[in-house]
Amino acid sequence: QKAEWEELKDAKTLTADGKQFTLGANIGTPKDVAGATDNGAEAVGLFRSEFLYMDASELPSEDDQFEAYKQAVEGMGGKQVVVRTMDIGGDKELPYLPLPEEMNPFLGYRAIRISLDKQDIFRTQLRALLRASNYGRLAIMFPMIATVKEFKAAKAIFEEEKAKFVQAGKPVSDDIEVGMMMEIPAAAMIADKLAKYSDFFSIGTNDLIQYTMAADRGNERVSYLYQPYNPSILRLIKNIIDSSHAEGKWTGMCGEMAGDQIAVPILAGLGLDEFSMSATSILKTRSLMKKLDTEKMKKLAEKAVNECETTEEVISLVKEFTD
Ligand code: PEP
Ligand code: MG
Repeated sequence: QKAEWEELKDAKTLTADGKQFTLGANIGTPKDVAGATDNGAEAVGLFRSEFLYMDASELPSEDDQFEAYKQAVEGMGGKQVVVRTMDIGGDKELPYLPLPEEMNPFLGYRAIRISLDKQDIFRTQLRALLRASNYGRLAIMFPMIATVKEFKAAKAIFEEEKAKFVQAGKPVSDDIEVGMMMEIPAAAMIADKLAKYSDFFSIGTNDLIQYTMAADRGNERVSYLYQPYNPSILRLIKNIIDSSHAEGKWTGMCGEMAGDQIAVPILAGLGLDEFSMSATSILKTRSLMKKLDTEKMKKLAEKAVNECETTEEVISLVKEFTD
């Protein structure tokens, strides 16, 4: 097995019948890039930029952020790096940025909601990203988008900052893709509308599952409801992928589910384009893909989405399929 994985490091991700997928890594700091490339990552599908904020004693400067993003895109040597703008709030606090106490932090003031409100922080981050775009293939995505209006507002601020670079004659890449996390059921339901504006989607199943099932992702007592394979979740995922494809866009997934060996055949069958996971799951997943057939996975996914009633039924369906 080790020998097979070694060989797969520099290989493309292909199914038995030759359909190609992209396997990316999730990273938290630029230091993680080495682990990503060592494990054969074809992209960074999620760079959680929060570390820059959480590991500091004050708001990170534009220069500090620039260095981190530059290091990441350079380290990936031309492969795409999707940086997610700050996702603070929820359970992630900053000592130097006191946020109001809330009854339901996961339903409160977090992520893009803070960025759109405290625009100086957001614009500083965007400027650092624009500068780093000159050193590799950078993409940007916004966390916790719920509405078309939010996406348009965030994108407009990005465009404003970019226009300032151009006006000042400062170099900036001309093909930065600007996308969004799909992690709120409301957004998943209107994916067809959002797909007109967003260059790509990245499905954040960690949050999408908790919000869809109304079950806190960290609460043991309701963990029985945290069901990645529940047909409700699969239907949302299908709608997101189909909507993006109808507009000629692509969809990735950066939640834990992307590297889950039971989920992979269904997700591939639904046409997910990019799977982003912890680096250590990449080669295992590339090896699994090699054994799978596209048409069979499509039928499997259709059955799971349309015929299954429970998460248990979906699990046995996949087990039958891969055995
Ligand atoms: C997610 O919600 O699935 C996700 C990838 O983001 P995070 O785990 O950082 O909330
Ligand atoms: Mg999330």
